[in-house]
Amino acid sequence: MKRIKKKDKVMVMSGKYKGKISEVVRVFSATGKLLVAKVNLVKKHARPTQHSPGGIQEKESPISASSVKLICPHCNKPARVGIKILDEGGKVRFCKLCKEII
Ligand SMILES: [Zn+2]
Repeated sequence: MKRIKKKDKVMVMSGKYKGKISEVVRVFSATGKLLVAKVNLVKKHARPTQHSPGGIQEKESPISASSVKLICPHCNKPARVGIKILDEGGKVRFCKLCKEII
């Protein structure tokens, strides 16, 4: 089970974007990397097409899932996520700060 999912709100914990809060756009489960909106932008040169004039565009580049923390929707803090196995089967994520199920 993944600790971070698409559409989660996360805080970047290291690097140039440290402290930035944004939303997960995509999860790459094979590499353990995430695409986070407006984080780790890289400039790309685009050729002019029929639909856009081209030029320099900024695009997100994936970052390691270990360099972000989930913002808990209950206590609103960057929290470590635990995985709990339910008695009736199945797994849920929970916040290690407030213990609420996310
Ligand atoms: Zn919490």
